Amino acid sequence: MYKPVDTLYSKNLYYSTNLKAPEVTFREALLQGLATDGGLYMPLSIPVISEEEIETYPALDYYEIAFRILRRFTGNDIEDDSLLSLCRNAYNFDIPLENVYDRIYVMRLDQGPTASFKDFAARMMGRLMQHFLSLEERYLTILTATSGDTGSAVANAFYGLKNIRVIILFPANEITVLQRKQMTTLNDNVLIIAINGKFDDCQKLVKSAFVDPSLSHIPLSSANSINIGRLLPQTVYYFYAWSRLSGKTDDTVIFSVPSGNFGNLMGGIIAREMSLPVKKFIVSTNENDEVPVYLKTGNYVTIIPSINCISSAMNVGHPGNMARIVALYGGIMDEKGVIIKAPDLEKMREDLFAVRVSDNETMETIRDCYKHYGLLLEPHGAVAWKGLQTYLKHDRAKVGENMLCISLETAHPAKFQNEIERLLNFKPHFPPSLSEIENKTENFLPMDNNYDIFKSFILRYYKQ
Ligand SMILES: *Cc1c(COP(=O)(O)O)cnc(C)c1O
Repeated sequence: MYKPVDTLYSKNLYYSTNLKAPEVTFREALLQGLATDGGLYMPLSIPVISEEEIETYPALDYYEIAFRILRRFTGNDIEDDSLLSLCRNAYNFDIPLENVYDRIYVMRLDQGPTASFKDFAARMMGRLMQHFLSLEERYLTILTATSGDTGSAVANAFYGLKNIRVIILFPANEITVLQRKQMTTLNDNVLIIAINGKFDDCQKLVKSAFVDPSLSHIPLSSANSINIGRLLPQTVYYFYAWSRLSGKTDDTVIFSVPSGNFGNLMGGIIAREMSLPVKKFIVSTNENDEVPVYLKTGNYVTIIPSINCISSAMNVGHPGNMARIVALYGGIMDEKGVIIKAPDLEKMREDLFAVRVSDNETMETIRDCYKHYGLLLEPHGAVAWKGLQTYLKHDRAKVGENMLCISLETAHPAKFQNEIERLLNFKPHFPPSLSEIENKTENFLPMDNNYDIFKSFILRYYKQ
């Protein structure tokens, strides 16, 4: 059994980004989701992993790296043996690292059961929650909003768990048929609601329910990237990619992250704080460019309603995790996006290079990558790739040919068959996980974008 080699553990306490809620342990933060003051939980201190330790990661499997990282955040809340077995059980799929040219790679995070990178976080969070709930014989309802891929990953990760019910809201006309079917064909403990509105509306309904005193008797939790249990597992694949392609702490790496709600990026930033040698994160967004504009001008202006782009899981006009990023750089941002205390913007600019990628550029990138490299990307991965290329052009003098660069591909191209067929004249093949659901029957509930209707539904549903 692995014995700790350093003592730099987090205190296993989590504070709220609004600073008006008590500090809680990992277990409490995980089961609660949002802090009682509407803020997001953040680790009070971020554990630093020694060079000697991370230089051993090249010899470890993914699940073993996951265990070594996550145990630093869970403290005494879960025993090593249990955590290790949850990790082994959650991470049983490949993570291809495809070389494109020089030391430039695409990391494919699309091999999980729902063919999206969200499987990494959702599978771990579901297992951790079930572990704690079953010990206490408690029950919980997960309430979450999805812009497409979260819903299926969460529904899949929680499907069939005994102590958990799941309610998922999606914007009726903003997700693909396939994304919808991945959620609506499960049934059992999973209930799906189609909201007549946008993703931001769904998120607002969920957030209102969490702070509504008349629902406080119902044990609710979120599974969005706002849950700390979703966030922390997303630090692991950054360590993994570096361990496979470098593994030397003097060899820095650049990651390009296609960003919507900024949970993925936040995972990377935490990995960097833990000592992963990252030179820069390329923050690649679609036309919802409130963060690139903020880094440029220092003015944070939310985009409401958000703009519909083909990288639909990134159509977010006010990223939930922005408050965490601001907190990590010493500032305070409330849930509306108002900056109460300015973060260290200069340091942010040093660490992050933000790029807005239009839909036209996204489509051009899908075409060009396939033509030049035989590299098949879907719209989200194409936004990341274009962001990386923009950075390399911009900073070519500083970035030599030997710089390790990794662009994240966050969904399987087969999830975007129509878009890809239009651009490349062929349909990517479904992985087995997707072909199975094609002919299953769908079940979901249409609902108006109205909080009173939503609330009375929850009250009724909970009486059942
Ligand atoms: C959710 C999602 C993103 C954005 O990730 P965030 O953590 O919300 O920034 C990117 N690509 C795909 C395919 C997604 O599903």
